[in-house]
Amino acid sequence: MADPMLRVQGLTVAYGGIQAVKGLNFHVNQGELVCLIGCNGAGKTSALKALAGLLPFDAQTAVFRQNLNLLEMQAHQRLPNGMALVPEGRGVFTRMSVLENLELGAYCRRADAQGKADIQADLERMLLAFPRLKERLKQSAGTLSGGEQQMLAMARALMGKPELLLLDEPSMGLAPLLVEKIFEVVQQVHQQGMTILLVEQNAHIALQIANRAYVMDSGLIDYEGQASELINDPRIRETYLGQL
Ligand code: ATP
Repeated sequence: MADPMLRVQGLTVAYGGIQAVKGLNFHVNQGELVCLIGCNGAGKTSALKALAGLLPFDAQTAVFRQNLNLLEMQAHQRLPNGMALVPEGRGVFTRMSVLENLELGAYCRRADAQGKADIQADLERMLLAFPRLKERLKQSAGTLSGGEQQMLAMARALMGKPELLLLDEPSMGLAPLLVEKIFEVVQQVHQQGMTILLVEQNAHIALQIANRAYVMDSGLIDYEGQASELINDPRIRETYLGQL
């Protein structure tokens, strides 16, 4: 089997003297949708931010695309090398228009004539995939609803043409119907070939679309396995899905 797209061993993250992530081992294979689930404060977001270069971390191994050492890469080097983050809280540029946000997503791509034509073609594809954004291209991003902002954040990340998409809590603060809609989009993006690492507190919906999952508790991985198996595991059902 090919080497994983992302391979992490012994990942730790500390805030001052407090260790939030205490030694995670996990991997994401090309084309997989892997989710990291767990209760509030388990350390999921800290782990994802560390991988994205937004928090200092330590690890025995943190390798992306077989030969890129994440311990030695700056945050701004992630996207040009194929890793995009959709942060918790979306992080759209609120005073800029929807179109400007999308264009910024492609900032690190080639700017010659061919590069610009490719970006334009991707923009059109993105607007087909996200029709709500097409209707609101000139609107400032800050006036979009929470669900629309989540779509914009995802579309902006995809404009960077990443190999791996890191998605942090896309369901946060959204009404149940919108959560379903957002997860349909995540599933479509995955079905089109994107490799995704998803951090999500809503274990029920994450396990429905993921291939594999890691369950975190207090900074450590408690369980791991195929999502289809975990969703039926009585321990997971009781603790994380609220079902007996
Ligand atoms: P949630 O699902 O609630 O977002 P999480 O699993 O993503 O939780 P983290 O946000 O990674 O968990 O937090 C892990 C631990 O680190 C928590 O105990 C939290 O209080 C702590 N923590 C997070 N950010 C900071 C910070 N900036 N300073 C100090 N402690 C922090």
